Amino acid sequence: PQHLHVDVVIIGAGPSGAVAASLLHQQGKCVLVVEKQHFPRFSIGESLLPCCMQFIEQAGMLPAVEAAGFQFKNGAAFRRNNQYTTFNFTEKFTPGPGTTFQVQRGQFDKILADTAVSQGVEIRYGHSVNAIDLGENQHASPVLTVTDEQANSYQITAQYVLDASGFGRVLPRLLDLEQASSLPSRSAIFTHIDDNITDANFDREKILISVHPTQKDIWYWLIPFSNGRCSIGVVAEPHLIEHHQGDLEQQLWQLINEEPGLKALLSQAKVVQECATLKGYSANVSTLATPQFALLGNAGEFLDPVFSSGVTIAMQSAQMAATTLVKQLDGEQVDWEQDYAKPLMLGVNTFRTYVQAWYDGRFQDVIFYDDPNQTIKQMICSILAGYAWDTNNPFVKDSERRLNMIVDLCREQTIAS
Ligand code: FAD
Repeated sequence: PQHLHVDVVIIGAGPSGAVAASLLHQQGKCVLVVEKQHFPRFSIGESLLPCCMQFIEQAGMLPAVEAAGFQFKNGAAFRRNNQYTTFNFTEKFTPGPGTTFQVQRGQFDKILADTAVSQGVEIRYGHSVNAIDLGENQHASPVLTVTDEQANSYQITAQYVLDASGFGRVLPRLLDLEQASSLPSRSAIFTHIDDNITDANFDREKILISVHPTQKDIWYWLIPFSNGRCSIGVVAEPHLIEHHQGDLEQQLWQLINEEPGLKALLSQAKVVQECATLKGYSANVSTLATPQFALLGNAGEFLDPVFSSGVTIAMQSAQMAATTLVKQLDGEQVDWEQDYAKPLMLGVNTFRTYVQAWYDGRFQDVIFYDDPNQTIKQMICSILAGYAWDTNNPFVKDSERRLNMIVDLCREQTIAS
């Protein structure tokens, strides 16, 4: 039977897998990507953050992404009752790209993967990883069992395994690394629409996040694409959705119609894709990396969709893991906890602070505060643009304390005025 030997196996060809593959290949490493599905395939997570453009560029994928005609994105807009506020990502504290795209992920992920292949990476589509043997100790080479669509199994021995399987969570399941998320379980219902928006003030270059008028922990995304369509979705704890009658599409529209701003904006919209739902998608693990494997992107921790941080975290993890792995493969001493897990978690924990504060209302009060200090707004804008690893930003370094300081300030001044 076939038995392959490579430097690195990557499980999954989504954004984290494709970027990691490209960066490792650039450094002369022999990489094999094993992808269960065939591309293009649908994926949720369509609004990118400017920070991730750096990783796309490092992977040599920027020209292909720019040529694809995706919707240009320069910021985020938020609406709560009659309050409307925008963040322009170019007005941010941290240096780096200030604009990005809103993308149909089937097409976007295929462009990244095809570019990696054009650079010389091998991707095996329709092959899925279903077992791993880590050997006797952490110096052994892991052996993966892979099955193709004809149910033929074969093995791959690699010096290292990167798990980029997203919600497939291959290694967390096989190695029993799963841990409960620190966030409550939430559900999302979503679809694509022909939006037919006629409101001249509607800004297609920004994601619109709307808050439910009476239930501040229910929110909606509206992500315009370049073809007259939008991705629309609602996120809530399951018990807040269940009492809505009917099928998913009916539940989604009842919730949309509860928010007068969205109801007006989408009065002519037509659903063009079957509504789908995801439940309990937040996840965590006990170990992010060892000398034999590392978890990238969603295969590690997934927080919450509210700040569109998923693809950025996925690519940031790919870049950090590739850097550490090249050193290890070249015989340098590395410490996966210090060199990978800890620096990655710095940014993830920054996002966590703001996600938690979004749902309990603290961060919403900052976002909707109508007379913000401009420097503070730029620092917050940096985080919304994905620069959650910039320790020069006080709102990264000391996120909880800094956030609470401005929450108090905004609340006092709102009461005073
Ligand atoms: P994925 O893109 O999921 O890729 C994983 C790949 O692994 C898949 O192609 C899969 O087929 C493959 N795979 C799985 N199992 C196996 C196996 N056994 N063998 C081989 N291959 C396998 N992020 C954003 O940036 N912006 C957003 O606006 C946004 N909105 C979101 C909304 C919701 C409701 C949710 C739940 C998430 C959202 N996200 C968003 C997060 C985003 O979807 C993910 O963070 C992102 O797709 C992670 O990329 P990845 O490379 O880790 O995994």
